[in-house]
Amino acid sequence: MISDVDVIVVGAGPAGLLLAGDLAQAGVSWTLEQLDARGTADELVTSGTPVAELRFFANAALDLSRLPSRFPYLLVTPQYETERVLEERATRVGADIRHGTEVTGLTQHPDGVEVKVRQADHPDRVVRAGWMVGADGIHSTVRRALGLPFPGKPVVRSVVLAEVRLTQPPPHALTVNTSGDAFALIAPFGDGWYRVIAWHRRNQPPEDAPVHLAEVCEVSRQVFGSDYGMHDPRWISRFHSDERQVPRYRDGRVLLAGDAAHVHSPAGMQGMNTGIQDAANLGWKLAATVHGWAPPGLLDTYHAERHPVGRQVLHGSGALLRLVTLPPALVAARNVLAFAATKIPAVASWLAAAISGVAISYPAAPGAHPLAGKRVADLPLADGRRLYEALRGGRLLLAARPEALPADATSGYGDRVDAAPVARASGTVALIRPDAYIAWAAAGDAATAPQIRDSLARWCGSPAQPAARTAGQ
Ligand SMILES: Cc1cc2nc3c(=O)[nH]c(=O)nc-3n(C[C@H](O)[C@H](O)[C@H](O)COP(=O)(O)OP(=O)(O)OC[C@H]3O[C@@H](n4cnc5c(N)ncnc54)[C@H](O)[C@@H]3O)c2cc1C
Repeated sequence: MISDVDVIVVGAGPAGLLLAGDLAQAGVSWTLEQLDARGTADELVTSGTPVAELRFFANAALDLSRLPSRFPYLLVTPQYETERVLEERATRVGADIRHGTEVTGLTQHPDGVEVKVRQADHPDRVVRAGWMVGADGIHSTVRRALGLPFPGKPVVRSVVLAEVRLTQPPPHALTVNTSGDAFALIAPFGDGWYRVIAWHRRNQPPEDAPVHLAEVCEVSRQVFGSDYGMHDPRWISRFHSDERQVPRYRDGRVLLAGDAAHVHSPAGMQGMNTGIQDAANLGWKLAATVHGWAPPGLLDTYHAERHPVGRQVLHGSGALLRLVTLPPALVAARNVLAFAATKIPAVASWLAAAISGVAISYPAAPGAHPLAGKRVADLPLADGRRLYEALRGGRLLLAARPEALPADATSGYGDRVDAAPVARASGTVALIRPDAYIAWAAAGDAATAPQIRDSLARWCGSPAQPAARTAGQ
């Protein structure tokens, strides 16, 4: 099959936009840290409100300020801001984004995918692509066209979502609590508007029942003792939430990412982060496959690494949702336990790392260095940049003290790997993936040139052959 494009990404939500940018940056027709490694985090931070202490369940408070990250906080910002910076970056690096275009079906062939496309005022047409990614959200057309099941169940009904103004805003950036039979959350958009989520166990009309601001104010008064003067709602709706996950993230030449692959309740606030991390994990592997240098099995590590993370997020957010919606008789005990847990440093750090996503790691080969599969810390480089800035090129990095890097360490890999001499005394040589995870590491003194070449071959395929010399050269 002759392809019109290398890859079609369906869906311009956060997962699809990050992936489209990563693929475009790699020359294929994309947590705050993932965005930092793409040069978009600082702009996004200016659009939101950083929350360094998360208050929940009456008196419990989780300190995020000691997270091992340049961004030791939760950023409260509207999703459309995230999408805006991701779209600007994707367009800047050459992604061809077609708004108002709907994918209606697909047919797989051994060497490509035929994608049925519909656009208003145009006849339906077929576009041929080498690969396709369904990042088209919870009701994914791509997932359905593949005939993949999406097993799971609804977990919470009749949650009201509203965007309002407040006459007396609450003192904390993120205000969240439960009381008796109700739960509510208030978060600022940063422009005078606030997002409110409200739920009441004893008031669960069907989803299409009209919803009024009075209902949100009532829940808020019950939970916080105040409705903070909510008025002028610009948007208000009722929704339900499911917990579901597709059994495999790859089917032949089609892959699934973000909500198309896994959905869960908003408790834990991790849906978008998880989708962005899916995209970051997949982008460079798919680009390597398209460019023809991916070692055997590399693309399949996408499912192997991300499916367990999706399952973990489903379990974590499900457990949190059950704690949030506990019957009134158990609320006091839960609040005491939550307060006590956040006072135990080890538990508090674990919770903060879990919520932020910085604790996610991937399985490493038996006997591998303890850093293999872990997220890399941001380090100063000898050339004055930070390591996360060096990752913005979308290539792998071979990082070590300058004297521990043989001169020809990356020869033959110049099209996919950069040497990254680190500024501080480091006893480790590490091969770092474009999604900021450590592919391979060894103690600096023990890392021999053949070991480095072996790790490059394992993660980056065969080196490019030097161009043949022509007569007279
Ligand atoms: C109330 C609520 C609060 C939330 N709060 C948080 C939070 O605090 N933190 C967090 O991380 N996550 C949160 N989430 C989850 C987050 O919104 C989602 O996980 C995220 O939007 C998923 O991104 P995505 O790119 O996978 O899919 P989506 O954002 O759903 O994007 C899918 C895109 O695909 C397009 N599309 C669909 N079908 C087609 C088709 N056939 N052809 C072409 N395009 C198509 C859609 O128009 C859309 O643009 C919340 C969700 C809800 C409902």
